[in-house]
Amino acid sequence: MHSRVVKTVCPFCGVGCGMYLTSDGQGNVCGVAPEQDHPISLGKLCEKGWSSVYAISPDNRIHHPLKRKRDRFIPISWDQALAEISTFLQDILEESGPQAVGVISSARATNEDNYAAQKFARAVLKTNNVDHCARICHSPTVAGLKQVLGSGAMTNSTKDLFDTEVIVVFGADPTENHSVLGGQIIEAKLAGATLIVVDPRVTRLAKLADIHLQLKPGTNIALINALLHEIISNDWHDRDFIDNRCDGFYALKSNVEKITPESVAEITGVDGPLIRQAAERYSRANRAMILYGMGITQFVSGTNNVIALADLALICGHIGKPGTGINPLRGQNNVQGACDMGCLPNVYPGYQLADEADTQQRFAAAWG
Ligand code: SF4
Repeated sequence: MHSRVVKTVCPFCGVGCGMYLTSDGQGNVCGVAPEQDHPISLGKLCEKGWSSVYAISPDNRIHHPLKRKRDRFIPISWDQALAEISTFLQDILEESGPQAVGVISSARATNEDNYAAQKFARAVLKTNNVDHCARICHSPTVAGLKQVLGSGAMTNSTKDLFDTEVIVVFGADPTENHSVLGGQIIEAKLAGATLIVVDPRVTRLAKLADIHLQLKPGTNIALINALLHEIISNDWHDRDFIDNRCDGFYALKSNVEKITPESVAEITGVDGPLIRQAAERYSRANRAMILYGMGITQFVSGTNNVIALADLALICGHIGKPGTGINPLRGQNNVQGACDMGCLPNVYPGYQLADEADTQQRFAAAWG
């Protein structure tokens, strides 16, 4: 067998950097190199990407199904594993019904694997008990952005960082968690973009930011409402965009009418004048983009946090154009795909609602 070079995507985070893996004559991965002309990573990998070889080396992988026997795992054959799992599942289904079983899928798996996992749960086990790690990271993004925009995904490409005037990083630490993207934010800032960081922590980006809104944890909505108030009361919102593309503006306006920056200063820990500055810089830019992470989603109010942030982009018309948008930073490399494929209890593939009779019938007909 000859050595081989395969073009692929880094298996770690949602940035999805392009890379080449080299395998030796025995099929073991022995080399990694960045894809120089990849449209997102532009020839870069972070330390996690460079270490892919170690993560997927044969010594670190499971080669057989393993069965627990007391305090250790014993290798067994695939036939034995499949037979035993199928017997266990049948016993549970007969004894307790489909609500007693479920499938946890993986945001590190491909779309095809995720599609098969949720189809197995629904068509074979007859349950909607299927989920994956979005439950603890970006399921509020799916729910919130779907309500406001119709789809729970980034509205823009990260390439737009180089085509924007203002970058708002809200509740995310990209230089740690999405390092190649973090580097691109720094490049965009050094090239002249204004950087606004909203984070209780003094992250690397916060140290470089033009404005750091160092809010107290859990006060996102108060801060966003004050930004909305400031923008609307100064007439910095985009009236044309709102008239032509948005519903419910006047209800939003009335909700934030009394929420001045000063009125939330004590709750958020951020001075009123700093909130005013951020509102002006973001809303008066021709192009401004928001990137956000788990500082928005990992709250009981996560869905409302996402909705409030999307409202901020909408009233300024910072959406639907290059260099704008509302952009969740996904942790794993295929959280988006696992959600799109329906590995969530409440939606089938393509976010079709699992509790709608028409949709149920359509899928029942297609899947037999
Ligand atoms: S930024 Fe993410 S996708 Fe890119 S190399 Fe690092 S871990 Fe991999």
